[in-house]
Amino acid sequence: MLDNLKIMWHQGKQFIPNVKTAEVPGIFRGRPVISTVAVENFPKDLCPTGAINLNPFSIDLGRCTFCGECSVCFPQKVKFTKDYKLGTNCREQLIIKESVANFTNEFNYEFGDDTSTIEIDRQKVRNEIRKIFSGSLKLRQVSAGGDNSCELELNASDNVQFDISRFGIEFVASPRHADGVVITGPITKNMATALEICYNAIPEPKIIILAGTDAISGGIFADSPEIDRTFIKNHNIDLYLPGNPVHPLTFINGILGLLSPL
Ligand code: SF4
Repeated sequence: MLDNLKIMWHQGKQFIPNVKTAEVPGIFRGRPVISTVAVENFPKDLCPTGAINLNPFSIDLGRCTFCGECSVCFPQKVKFTKDYKLGTNCREQLIIKESVANFTNEFNYEFGDDTSTIEIDRQKVRNEIRKIFSGSLKLRQVSAGGDNSCELELNASDNVQFDISRFGIEFVASPRHADGVVITGPITKNMATALEICYNAIPEPKIIILAGTDAISGGIFADSPEIDRTFIKNHNIDLYLPGNPVHPLTFINGILGLLSPL
């Protein structure tokens, strides 16, 4: 008994008390910030997924793999912050534009100038989502050709540290018990029909969440003939969660933002 208490005392608090303000380690790459500094000869093919637009300079987080190559090659132009609040219901919000004049040092810049934060447009959230699902949301996860990275992070979102179920958000085994679907992976041809069947089995009203770059745009598989994105074209997406893979705090904050009152 005493030994167990000693272990518990030694371990301290396992859960993250506040998922909205928690710090993540420096190695994490979250929302990038782009300076207005002009760079010459930026190689067009530097970005493996074509997430960078040069005219005007912007980064599409729906396509970005967060490899960090652009910030390594052009540190005066792009910096990745540790901001994990990347979830939005507006696809265009994922286009990060030039927003600061300069970077003062490795991670600091004039925060007051940074206008590139990503938010949920609450006016666009369907009324029934907020009304019915805040307090209890059951989700069915479909790995549509995923590589297990996003799937692992979604799994981690319910571990003792992140503990998403404290907010009433849980994954369920059957779409008939679910309020929505969380899609990971670029949606391969052989998963396209299965995804549609799963979605159809979920009772109305239902939500669609795209978790990770592959799900949002196809990622590095976007041009592959082996993917079938018809599902995305045919349905309204309620929440985009960038990341490669998506971080548990991105996932949790994104859903809480979607369910929060007006
Ligand atoms: S970090 Fe994103 S935008 Fe930059 S090179 Fe990699 S994929 Fe492209």
